[in-house]
Amino acid sequence: MSADLDDWTVGAPRLVAQRCEACAARWLFRRDFCPHCGCQSPQALALTGVGIVHAATVVHRAPDDEFRAIAPYALVLVELEEAVRVMGHAPLGAAIGVRVEVTFVEIAGRLLPYFCPIPTVTGRSDRGDRGDQGGAWTSPSSK
Ligand SMILES: [Zn+2]
Repeated sequence: MSADLDDWTVGAPRLVAQRCEACAARWLFRRDFCPHCGCQSPQALALTGVGIVHAATVVHRAPDDEFRAIAPYALVLVELEEAVRVMGHAPLGAAIGVRVEVTFVEIAGRLLPYFCPIPTVTGRSDRGDRGDQGGAWTSPSSK
C-alpha cells in the first residue's frame, strides 16, 4: 500500500512527500518513520507541484562553480496545495504570493524543481493587500 514513489532527487520529474496515517503529519524528504509521532508506516504522497510562493530570494553568490555560472538566479519557497513547502528555482522576478507550478529542468548538471508562474485571468482576486504591486491594484488618490 505504501508504494514508494521516485522523486526528483533520484531523477524522476516529480515531487513526492510522505504523510502519516496515524497523526496526519506531512513532510517532504523520505523517512522510515513519522517525525512527529514515530509511526513507522508513512505513506507516499504524490504532489501536484502547484502552490503559492511563500518566500523568494535572488542568489548572487552561488555556493559552487556550477551554480556560479548561472548566477544570479532566483530561489523560491513554495507552499504547495498539499500544505508541504518545497524549495526550488524560479525565474528572476518571482514574487511572494504568486501562484506557480513546478517543472523540472537540468541546472548545473542536476535535475531540479523549477517553479513557473501560472498565468492568471486578470481581474479581481482575493490576493489580499499588496503594497508593492505597483499600479494595477492601486487607484491613484484624487487630489
Ligand atoms: Zn505521525
